[in-house]
Amino acid sequence: MCIFCSIASHKIPSTLVYEDEKYIVLNDIHPKSRIHMLLIPKKHIESISHMSNEDQETIGWLFLIARNLGHEMQIPGYRLQFNVGKEGGQEVMHVHLHFLAD
Ligand code: 5GP
Ligand code: ZN
Repeated sequence: MCIFCSIASHKIPSTLVYEDEKYIVLNDIHPKSRIHMLLIPKKHIESISHMSNEDQETIGWLFLIARNLGHEMQIPGYRLQFNVGKEGGQEVMHVHLHFLAD
């Protein structure tokens, strides 16, 4: 089981910024901005490159969660980033959306 699956299933305790039936959000352990959150579907999809057509909704919701967090935390602007594949800078092979703000 990968690290994000372990956190999502509460096998590894972690402080969650947000959780619902299908997603978790956590603060990055090595933040690259003042605000650096990881938006993660509980479903194990390795990367954007591995998503199937049926995963469209699962991935799409990540952007709506980002929007909601931006509103709720009153963050005026932010960056959203997927790293895709080892060559694209992806270290954890469980898809996640980086939410970064200064
Ligand atoms: P990637 O490089 O795969 O796009 O991003 C993985 C991110 O996950 C990195 O920014 C890294 O700091 C973060 N990370 C790795 N392991 C953990 C962990 O156990 N807990 C948290 N909160 N973040 C992690
Ligand atoms: Zn996983």
